[in-house]
Amino acid sequence: MTETYVCANCGATATRSFGVRSIIRTCDDCGENGRFLHRSLVDSLSSLPDDELPENWESMALDDRFEEALKRGLIEITRS
Ligand SMILES: [Zn+2]
Repeated sequence: MTETYVCANCGATATRSFGVRSIIRTCDDCGENGRFLHRSLVDSLSSLPDDELPENWESMALDDRFEEALKRGLIEITRS
């Protein structure tokens, strides 16, 4: 089984054989050493209700959206 992770900086994807909430790696595309979020988390970030989100949501990096959504209790971590 393959799990997909998305670069919080540029949106490039990487696959791993294990499922965790995020991995830290250097991105092949943008060269940033940072967080790759699990695809399922990225999907839940894109389906949040507009009125629950901060005004600058669209301009926030994926990583920041993730932290913000967590803080607001909009997403749940279902993977350890
Ligand atoms: Zn990247």
